[in-house]
Amino acid sequence: MENAPNSPHFQRYKPVDQLVYLVSPDQPFCSFLAQQISHFGYFVQTVRDLPGLQNALAEHVSVAAIIDLSPFGVITFREQIFSELSSRWQSSIPLIFLSDFDEQESRLRAIRSGGVAFFPKPVDIVNLVDTLDSLQKPQSEDRHRVLIVEDQHAIASYYQMVLKMSDMDAEIITDSTRLLSKMYDYHPDLILMDLYMPEVNGFELAKMIRQMNEFVSIPIVFLSSEENFDRRMEAMRLGGDDFLTKPIKASHLVSLVRSRLERLRTLRSYMVRDSLTSLINHTTFRGMLAQEVSRCRRQENRLALAMLDLDHFKQINDTYGHAVGDSILKSLSRLLKQRLRKSDIIGRYGGEEFVALLLDVDANQAYNVMEEIRSHFAEVEHHPTAKGAVYVTFSCGIAAYPDFTTAKQLSDAADQALYAAKNAGRNRVVIAHPHET
Ligand code: GH3
Ligand code: MG
Ligand code: MG
Ligand code: MG
Repeated sequence: MENAPNSPHFQRYKPVDQLVYLVSPDQPFCSFLAQQISHFGYFVQTVRDLPGLQNALAEHVSVAAIIDLSPFGVITFREQIFSELSSRWQSSIPLIFLSDFDEQESRLRAIRSGGVAFFPKPVDIVNLVDTLDSLQKPQSEDRHRVLIVEDQHAIASYYQMVLKMSDMDAEIITDSTRLLSKMYDYHPDLILMDLYMPEVNGFELAKMIRQMNEFVSIPIVFLSSEENFDRRMEAMRLGGDDFLTKPIKASHLVSLVRSRLERLRTLRSYMVRDSLTSLINHTTFRGMLAQEVSRCRRQENRLALAMLDLDHFKQINDTYGHAVGDSILKSLSRLLKQRLRKSDIIGRYGGEEFVALLLDVDANQAYNVMEEIRSHFAEVEHHPTAKGAVYVTFSCGIAAYPDFTTAKQLSDAADQALYAAKNAGRNRVVIAHPHET
């Protein structure tokens, strides 16, 4: 038991990035699943049974363990797994169960054994990868930033502490004359504003903030012991979004601030992101392309624009339905996110067209990256059913800076290269060369 995954010895170790254990004695199934998941950037290590999993965890902690309950359809293996899990297993990692039988009893036992997901076979790989993705901590989702404008330091630090304990970031200014410079430094997502302060009052400050284009959408929540209804309405009219009456209960403060911030974040993401894939949309991408091209010109950097279009996608939709089509679009977007660098910019350009901006690479390097993604994607089994799986491919055109020097030239050239890839038989990547266009 000294190697139990929940022992203090283990807690020193962080999960190894993208490592997943697969528990199954069924070798052919293991290699099939391992290969499918690896297309999405996960590294799969197979172990035969739970003791094997414990030994593996002693070496490296993984993102999750996938436990196959039905190798060869042997019921006793499932019984053995569940009894081992209930008797001495206290998992420090999430468990995902796979089973031949989709019945309630197994699902319930999986949950009681600490399962976070249950997939009947044939396994829907996209959903499984979705689950794995969701188990990884969001890498850089920024904490919300709240700026507290309050002349009494003791009160301000109390709010700050309350917000920080709720996993938000908070900074204080007690001298309201410094508000503007603080806004530029800190870029708050929300302002908590005291109404009455010695130098200026909250009304004036709100009015000032609302006159500045870059701060128009920042929620302002007034804090005051002001009970007068007319004065409170006045505060809202001048640009406040809410009013909290002092003294304020910690739980009220947190829930009001959080709901304001979440609504704002959702609204912002609607404006720039596509709802199916959560990639940035056409308009946003074009803006970012223009920005990156001028940055490249200033800094004498390189970049490559890749345009992708799924092959014969209309036929896929017509044959398998729109829902299957949508899940294929999601799986390509996930693959792009996982295979490209964090700094690269990925967008959904239209229906079944995607774009990627690869920074600091030339056309040949971009070709290699996209070619690798193309070959992985072509091997992914979508929508597995008893009758078999669906395979989909894409074609891709690449144009690089400084072979092409404006955003428009890059887009046109990548588009033409994509067209050439389609004409040459699809499922391929083509580079645009300047002398050809
Ligand atoms: P090609 O290889 O020449 O690109 O053939 P294609 O069938 O992919 O091209 P076409 O432009 O004729 O058809 C694109 C199809 O993509 C039409 C539509 O059925 C499908 N599509 C577009 N947007 C979506 C979407 O949001 N969801 C789904 N499921 N399908 C979409
Ligand atoms: Mg005050
Ligand atoms: Mg198209
Ligand atoms: Mg197409």
